[in-house]
Amino acid sequence: MSRINRRQWLTRAGAASVASLAPAGSSARGQEPGKPAQEAKPERLTLEDFQPKSMLHVTETKVERSRFPVIDVHTHLTMGARHKNGVTIGEEIRVLAPPDGVLPVMDRKNIRLMVDLTGNYGTGLEQAIQTFQRPHPDRFMVFTEPAWDHFNRADYARWQADELGRAHQAGAKGLKVLKTLGLYLRQDVTSGPLVKIDDPHFDPMWEACGGFKMPVAIHISDPEAFFLPIDRFNERFEELNNHPDWSFYDHDFPSFQELLEARNRMFARHPRTTFVALHVGHNAENLAAVSECLDRFPNMYVELAARISELGRQPRTARKFFEKYQDRIMFGTDAVPNGTQTPQQILSAKLYEIYYRFLESEDDYFDYAPAAKPPQGRWQIYGLGLPESILRKVYYQNAERVLGIVD
Ligand SMILES: [Zn+2]
Repeated sequence: MSRINRRQWLTRAGAASVASLAPAGSSARGQEPGKPAQEAKPERLTLEDFQPKSMLHVTETKVERSRFPVIDVHTHLTMGARHKNGVTIGEEIRVLAPPDGVLPVMDRKNIRLMVDLTGNYGTGLEQAIQTFQRPHPDRFMVFTEPAWDHFNRADYARWQADELGRAHQAGAKGLKVLKTLGLYLRQDVTSGPLVKIDDPHFDPMWEACGGFKMPVAIHISDPEAFFLPIDRFNERFEELNNHPDWSFYDHDFPSFQELLEARNRMFARHPRTTFVALHVGHNAENLAAVSECLDRFPNMYVELAARISELGRQPRTARKFFEKYQDRIMFGTDAVPNGTQTPQQILSAKLYEIYYRFLESEDDYFDYAPAAKPPQGRWQIYGLGLPESILRKVYYQNAERVLGIVD
């Protein structure tokens, strides 16, 4: 198929099938052989099977290694082992890959340090620290998580703040809050009304984080489209159709806006605590709104994980955002070793090359994930071509400050 394009080929394939239905001996409706039949309908495709290949002939920059050493502030190398209704139960963790399974990719891709956010608490946390941070203190950091399964104990507020102190003592470098808060955690842990993000029971915990200088990496809500009906107007239709459990439309879920407002009230109440609002402030589709929050909360930072798909489809707006907030944006991927469900976050050399290409090159229109079809919406992205001074800050300098590696 070297000299013809795909459209011609499809039309010819269509003509061929018409010809094959014609009675023996006649050419298809008297057509000249090889000419497309006027009436031939285009092949019908399901959306699922549509995999268009771009015909753009544009520069393709291969960025094998980042320009500067990287701190990836958002990875999941361990995870709570047991869950019920979206809530982690118990201290036990699963180690998703051993350090030796990750270090070779880190070395090849110029990744200096990875932060394993989901270290759970108690004995699970100790195991995560023992596995990653203790043997490789300059390559891995482990964060702890709230003990959601203790939420219904009477003394939770105090107990959780003390537990954070124990985690700090054990070596945890920060606190990670999954979207469990606001969307899954309920008054009786897995039943009853949803617990609000600004529930005062967490106030001593947020304050303790500030006191110990442990940053809080927090994921609130989800893409705005996940709060809308799964229909033909939803730009994340394919993804939600594949994972209907990711939809927060209807039921007793708060709206996207209500979740962010509760988060903002909580940020405002704890100005001494550093919050890393993950996934570009959980609102990468609306950088104007994220900017407003960054202006309002000097204790707020953001990172990029799993949102180059959003940033890269608005390259001019994103570039201005990076220029203005260059001291507040960190590098993150949401990388998880192994798996196939979410190609935009499977830890691999290829994943990092895409992030580097997005930040460093000025390439047009390329895939934001190593996948046959764009997994987070049917579009391609554009590189930002950031200058070296901003790249340094985003790749490692801002993270060094937030993680307390340098003052
Ligand atoms: Zn994550």
